[in-house]
Formats: sequence, C-alpha cells, structure tokens
Amino acid sequence: MQHNKIRVCWMYHNIMDLYGDKGNMMVLSKRCEKRGIECEIVPLEIGQEMDLTEFDLLFLGGGADREQVLLMEDLLKRKEQIAKAMEQGTFVVLICGGYQLFGQYYIAADGTKIEGLKFFDYYTEAGSNYQRCIGNIAISAQLDDFTTTIIGFENHGGQTRNVSKPFGKVLSGYGNNQSDHMEGFYNGQVLGTYMHGPLFPKNPEVADFVIYKCLKKQNPELKYTDLTRLDDSLEQQAREVMLKRMNITV
Ligand code: GLN
Repeated sequence: MQHNKIRVCWMYHNIMDLYGDKGNMMVLSKRCEKRGIECEIVPLEIGQEMDLTEFDLLFLGGGADREQVLLMEDLLKRKEQIAKAMEQGTFVVLICGGYQLFGQYYIAADGTKIEGLKFFDYYTEAGSNYQRCIGNIAISAQLDDFTTTIIGFENHGGQTRNVSKPFGKVLSGYGNNQSDHMEGFYNGQVLGTYMHGPLFPKNPEVADFVIYKCLKKQNPELKYTDLTRLDDSLEQQAREVMLKRMNITV
C-alpha cells in the first residue's frame, strides 16, 4: 500500500457530540492503529481557520437544536471548501444533527428555520406533535458491494423527507421519519445517518468501511477486503445482545 495514513477533520467536536459520537473517533483511530495505519484526527471549532480540502474524512456528529443554530453561520462559510473536498474524493460521515444540516433546511422544535448547506434535496422538520424518535435502531444497509445489519441509537425530533438515496431499510426503530421505514442517506461518498450508538463501536464493519473509503482516495485500486481483519468477537457478542433485544434474526 503506498499511502498508510488518513487525515480526519472532526468538525465542531466540542458541541456536536451526542450519545457517544466521540466513540466513533476513538474506534476509528484504534482500528487504524491496530493495522499500522496512521490516523490523524484534527478537531475543528467555530471560527477556526482550517483547509477542509486537506482531509480524507470529514466527520460531524449530532447536536441539539441550540447547537445546530450556533454553528450554522460558521458551517455555511465553509460550504465551498466542503464542496471542493467532496469533489476531490473526501469521504463524509454525518450523524443526526450533522446529517440534517447538509440538506435543504431544518425546522427546529420551536419553529426556527435553519438553512442547510443544500448539498442534497432532503429536508427536515421537527414533528408537528413534538413526538421524538427515540430508542435503539437496526437497519439493513448496503455498503457499496455488501449488505449488512447496522445497529445504533437514535434520538431526534426532526423528520427527514425527500431522501433520494436512503442508507438502509429500517428493521427496528424509526430512521428518517415516522412513516417511510428508511434510514439515512448514502451516495457512495457522503453517509448521513440518524444512528448515534456510537455507530463505529457497535458496527466494526462500518468503521472499517470508512477507513477503506479514506485510504481509497489515495489508493484507487484498494478493496475493502484488502484491510487486515481484526478480532471482533467482543463486538459481535455485543451486537447479538442488541439484535436479540430488538427481536431481529440475521
Ligand atoms: N436537534 C435535532 C433533532 O432533534 C438533532 C438531534 C440529534 O443530533 N440527536 O432532530
């Protein structure tokens, strides 16, 4: 492998971090370390100068309505750079509140309209009856070439609609909204999901898939199966407990 390093920008790490989103960064770095891949995680805060085109991964966690309002002005200023980074093949992972902000808009629970980055057609509105989607969730999703079951935890008032490319089909829980039974958004480069969980610790396959996508930016020939396999027996046991709890057999 020519390039054995990934650079990650952990966007708004100090305010967008709900239900263990931070665990995603910890697992990403640990799984790289175990394989001898250098993983540099650079935290980004509001107002900080940063060239977002220098990264292999942009990661943005979830946040409450208040935090989303707080950061939006800063995020909008970075729109061109994010677009450029995506053009250059940077992979993007967005959780919940972060996912919402890449769409057209988010109407928060108190009616405040937050304009999104408008990269995608989906939009989000807080449920009219203030009913939130809370609880464990499992979906069946396609990670490019393979289908897998992904487990997480969701807690959002926002109902996301008009999603052209949903990430997966809901097996248990809510997902994008209370009626579609579809979850998240994935277009091969941007993965938006309501699954905190945290996502990577509960789904080592997803963590590895993201590592692979980052490395692939530098090594276009790389395949997911080229990554050294790690012992995930403990993670598998944890997954089985959660699947059983949700009455899911895979
Ligand atoms: N504030 C948003 C909502 O309630 C996002 C919440 C989150 O990131 N968990 O829909």
